[in-house]
Amino acid sequence: MRLAIYPGSFDPITKGHEDVIARAAKLFDQVIVAAATNEAKRGLFSMEERVAMLREVTARFENVRVVAFEGLLVEFARRQGAVAVVRGLRAVSDFEFEFQMALMNRKLEPAVETLFLTPREEYTYLSSRIVKEIARLGGAVDAFVPPPVVEALRKKLRIGGPV
Ligand code: ADP
Repeated sequence: MRLAIYPGSFDPITKGHEDVIARAAKLFDQVIVAAATNEAKRGLFSMEERVAMLREVTARFENVRVVAFEGLLVEFARRQGAVAVVRGLRAVSDFEFEFQMALMNRKLEPAVETLFLTPREEYTYLSSRIVKEIARLGGAVDAFVPPPVVEALRKKLRIGGPV
């Protein structure tokens, strides 16, 4: 059984994340999407809200589970028996940070490989941050996030329709 972890903030999940999850689900027997508590990033959505959206969006994948996690990623990966950590690479700008993380994680836990997946081209310029920005300013985000997230953003930001 080959298990991979896909960690991130997912604040909120975008179609780019969804695309990476679909690719990982094809490659591995099981994928755990791990929503991380990040002290440096104060999220728009609570952990419960992020996990609920992730679960709804990934419900169609039989081999994908969603969990919230805190602490060191490699420690979590080791405990779950994961062989790989999956990360998404959109552009060169992601590279430096991701490269440093991958090498540091390898130093901490040599048995866990980091695998980079690239989403469909039209999602390469997508980030949770930019989606939140557009939604805040009243722009349409349905091309960028799955339907439950469109609704959640509308409610959270109290814009664009009945609350
Ligand atoms: P983090 O706080 O870990 O950067 P994110 O939720 O922003 O969390 O991203 C989680 C992972 O998904 C990261 O590897 C990130 O590069 C990747 N990712 C984010 N947006 C996209 C996208 N549009 N396409 C592909 N990968 C993405």
